[in-house]
Amino acid sequence: MPHSVPSPNIRQTQLFINGQWIPSQSGKTFDTINPANEEVIAEVAEGDAVDVECAVEAARRAFDEGPWPRLNARERGKIMHRFCDLIDEEIDELAAIESLDNGKPLKDARHVDIPLAVECIRYYAGWADKIQGTTIPVNGDFLCYTRREPVGVAGQIIPWNFPILMVAWKWGPALAAGCTLVMKPAEQTPLTCLRLARLAQKAGVPDGVINVVPGFGPTAGAAIVKHPGVDKIAFTGSGETAKAIMRQSADTMKRMTLELGGKSPNIVFADANLEAAAEGAHIGIHLNQGQCCCAGSRLFVEDSIHDSFVEKVVELSRKRRVGNPFDPATEQGPQVDRAQFEKIMSYIEKGQEEGAVCATGGQRVGDRGFFVEPTVFTEVHDEMAIARDEIFGPVLSVLRFSDIDELVRRANATTFGLAAAVWTRDVSKAHMLAERLRAGTVWVNCYDVFDAAAPFGGFKQSGFGRELGQRGLDAYLEDKTVTVSLG
Ligand code: NAP
Ligand code: MG
Repeated sequence: MPHSVPSPNIRQTQLFINGQWIPSQSGKTFDTINPANEEVIAEVAEGDAVDVECAVEAARRAFDEGPWPRLNARERGKIMHRFCDLIDEEIDELAAIESLDNGKPLKDARHVDIPLAVECIRYYAGWADKIQGTTIPVNGDFLCYTRREPVGVAGQIIPWNFPILMVAWKWGPALAAGCTLVMKPAEQTPLTCLRLARLAQKAGVPDGVINVVPGFGPTAGAAIVKHPGVDKIAFTGSGETAKAIMRQSADTMKRMTLELGGKSPNIVFADANLEAAAEGAHIGIHLNQGQCCCAGSRLFVEDSIHDSFVEKVVELSRKRRVGNPFDPATEQGPQVDRAQFEKIMSYIEKGQEEGAVCATGGQRVGDRGFFVEPTVFTEVHDEMAIARDEIFGPVLSVLRFSDIDELVRRANATTFGLAAAVWTRDVSKAHMLAERLRAGTVWVNCYDVFDAAAPFGGFKQSGFGRELGQRGLDAYLEDKTVTVSLG
C-alpha cells in the first residue's frame, strides 16, 4: 500500500487554559499516532486532575465575572461566525491533521466532517440572539416571566470517531448560550480540537471561555466529571463510561446529556428501491470505517428478496477501496487504534464461531496500520454476539424477516435506541414503522442524513438529551421564573 503522508504544521500540542498554551503540571506527555502507519505524529501534553482544576477555575471565572455571558447576544453570534470563517480559511490543513490523527479519508474530513462542523457552529451562532423566555398569565396581581440563562460551566468529553464534528456539536450550543467550557478530547485524536481552540481565540472568544485539557479518561475526564465547579456534563462515547460518569457526578448533581452507542436496525422491504437500499445498507455500516454511533449494523432483509439483495450489498463491500487515507481514491481508512482493531477482529472471529457466514471480508488488510476488510456476515441470528453488541467497525450482520410484527419486536429487542432506517415504497408502512421503532432517529429511504437543525440522540441506553437543533441548545440553558408584584 503506498503511503504518501503529508506533514501539516501541527502547532498546538499543549493544554489550552485561560487563553494560554501551557505544559501539564506533571510535565507528562502522551503520543498521538497515525493509525495508517502506527507512527507517532506528535507528543501532546497530558493533563490530569491538577490541570483540570486550573481549567475549571478559568472557566468558572470567565462565566461568573467575564464578558462572555454578559456580551450582547448578537456579538456572541458574530464571534462564532468569525470562528467559522477562520476554520474555512484553514480547512485544508485542518482536514489533513484530522485525517492523520484519526485515519479517516482526507476527502471525508475535507468535504463532509468539517463543512458539517462549520454549518453546526453557524446554525448555533444564529441562535445566540434568539434565546428568549415567555410571559406567563398567573393568578393575582403579578407579572410573571421566564428568563433563559446559560447553565454555567460545561464539562465536555468527546470520543475519537468525529473529532472536529464533536467539537462543533459541543461548542456551538454552549457558546451561543453564553456558557464557558472545559473540554477533554479523546486520547487518540487531540490535535484538531487544540487547533480549533486557537482559531476560536483568534476569532475573539475571550480567555477562559474555551479550555482544552487533553489527557486520559480516568484522570482528566474523571476530574471534570467530579469537579463541583462544573455545572453540566456533555458526553459522547461508550455506555460503560457513561454509567461511570453518571455515578461520579451524582454528588454534585450535574446536568447531563449522554450520546452513546447503538445497534441500529436498517430494514429493507421487498417493495423498496433496492439499488438505493443496497447503497444505504453499505454506507449505513461502512461510513467512517464503521465507527459511527448510529451505524446500521443490523440489516434486516425481507425473506423474499434476501439472497439477491445480499448479493448487491456484498458486491459493494468487495469493491470498497481500503487504503491510504490521503489517496483520493480511498473510501475506507484504518480503524482508530490497535484496541479498536483487535476488538473488531475478535468479533469477526466470534461471528464465525457462532455459525454466521462470512460472505465477504473478515481479514486484516496489510500488516502495517489498523486496516480491516469491509465485512458482511449472513445467516446471523438475533442471539449472536455480532447481532447484539456494538462492534464499532466495518462489520455488517444480515438478518432475515418475513412478518412485520415480529420484525418490530426483533428490531426493538436491544438495549440501544439511537437510530433505525426503513426502506420501502409503501408510505403507510414507512410511517407505521417510524412510530413503532424505539429509536431517537428514524430514516426512511435514506441513511446518515444529518442536519444542524434536526435533533439527534438516543432512546434507552443510547443516552438521553438531544444534540443539534433547538433541543441541543436547551441542554445549555436553565429556566428562571421571575414573579413581580404589581400591587
Ligand atoms: P469511551 O471510553 O467512552 O471514551 C469516550 C471519551 O470518554 C474519551 O474522551 C475517554 O477518554 C473519556 N473517558 C473514558 N473514561 C472516562 C471516565 N472514567 N471519566 C470521564 N471520561 C472518561 O470510549 P472508547 O474507549 O474510546 O471506545 C470504546 C467503545 O465505545 C467503542 O468501541 C464504541 O463501541 C463506543 N464508542 C461510541 C462512540 C459514540 O459516538 N457513541 C464513540 C466512541 C466510542 P480516553 O481518551 O482516555 O479514552
Ligand atoms: Mg491518533
